[in-house]
Amino acid sequence: MQLTSKDITSLHKPSECSLRIYLGSKGTPKSEPASLEKLINKFAKQHEQNHLRTLGNFMDLREGSLDQRYQETGYAITDKEEILYQPILYAKTVIDKTEIEIYGGADFFISEKDNYIIRDCKMIKNLRNNKGKIKKEHLNIELQITLCAWLFEQNYKIEPSELQIFTKSNQIEKIPYDGGEKALIALKEIIRMRTLKKTPYSPVGVSKCGQCEFHNHCWTNAQEKHDIALVYEVDQSLAIALHNKKIKTYDEIENAFTVEELAEFKNINGARVGKKAESILRNAKAMAEDTEIIIQSPEIPIHDNYVMFDLEGIPSNLADEEMIYLWGIQVYGKIKGEFLPSVASFKDDGDEIAWEDFLNNANKIFKKFGDIPFVHWASYEKTQLNRYIERYGDNKGIAERIKRNLLDLLPVTKKSIAIPREGYSIKVVEKHIGFKRTLDEYGGDWAIAKYFEAKVNNDFTRQKQLIDEILLYNHEDLDSTWAVLEWLLERKK
Ligand code: SF4
Repeated sequence: MQLTSKDITSLHKPSECSLRIYLGSKGTPKSEPASLEKLINKFAKQHEQNHLRTLGNFMDLREGSLDQRYQETGYAITDKEEILYQPILYAKTVIDKTEIEIYGGADFFISEKDNYIIRDCKMIKNLRNNKGKIKKEHLNIELQITLCAWLFEQNYKIEPSELQIFTKSNQIEKIPYDGGEKALIALKEIIRMRTLKKTPYSPVGVSKCGQCEFHNHCWTNAQEKHDIALVYEVDQSLAIALHNKKIKTYDEIENAFTVEELAEFKNINGARVGKKAESILRNAKAMAEDTEIIIQSPEIPIHDNYVMFDLEGIPSNLADEEMIYLWGIQVYGKIKGEFLPSVASFKDDGDEIAWEDFLNNANKIFKKFGDIPFVHWASYEKTQLNRYIERYGDNKGIAERIKRNLLDLLPVTKKSIAIPREGYSIKVVEKHIGFKRTLDEYGGDWAIAKYFEAKVNNDFTRQKQLIDEILLYNHEDLDSTWAVLEWLLERKK
């Protein structure tokens, strides 16, 4: 069996899931990589190339088959070349009675005395958390480079002098070498998955599966089977525990437990379900009967008008710092206002000007309507208001006034209605209430990719077309939030 360091990535990225290895080995159809993923890969390549330019002369080992590259790497090391770019190493070993051939490499080998530093470039800001531990989401980075170090040791009978990660912030972070222990455990798991005869169970999850190439496959499968993992508040460890107890569907759980019994039930980590039991059973019932269950009247203050408020932002892994590139607001209700988007231009002061424009628009609304609720979904809008107050200030106190008038519909919805759906994202809820969009493709990641495409496009007409598409998407987000508010007000009656 042949394994490469890419298999380790597949085990851990975009989330840890062994099923991904099994499905990949069976040739299960994959979804096209999303436009944002392609963009991230492009940025990662640029980051690597920028670093390469600072290293001086190098031996380019990118071309050829894995075998050829391994041989060329060997010659380069024998010749004591200073910088090796994209070297490949190889070793044969036996894991769990299976003979395996392993290929692995790194971005750079950099000579140091009679040895080499192994260095990878990664588009990450910080490898470690506040406690100094490698973050869980970066575990694959550690495994890849330690696997390469293990291969180095197998080939040259010496440990590489250092393992380094060159981060997006142009910092070098060191990774301790564990003798390849963790990487070999990961390979063991990959072998186990590849040799399984029956499809293993792995519960679907919104954040776990969101970016996965098998999302459509697993999600459709889970929906067809009424998988227990689709029930809101049933997390991964509880889904597995229920599955082990042969409670595999949301139709089954209702008759299997009383609230008290489910509260005492333990997930695979030994934690009791506790207070969540009641809402889990209610959510499962809503799904099994395909109906809404009203828990309480939605807590929404009655006004003639409301402002819908939605932001489009770029996360910190794609920019120097997290930024909002579109502040969208519009008045809905008895009087329908115009759509007031504030878009950050690509100039240096674009971010600050968009913030000021947004505050001016909000101020005009306050002047006309007084203290009016700014309706949004989830905590992102509030977090960003705080971030921007800190970044650019709030001289006239408009942002603070917006904050005082915020109305987050997510907790209101969760507290008042159990819906027969797999969660409470705005996209899930809008589907449930029958809201229709005009765009075939949309979403926060899609919009970010469009914004970057516009940024690098010199054709003004194309640039405007791309920004118009983002505006339409954001405008439909506001329409969707208003549709959800109307649906909640209806239930309040
Ligand atoms: S879609 Fe989810 S369950 Fe399926 S392989 Fe991907 S991460 Fe695993």
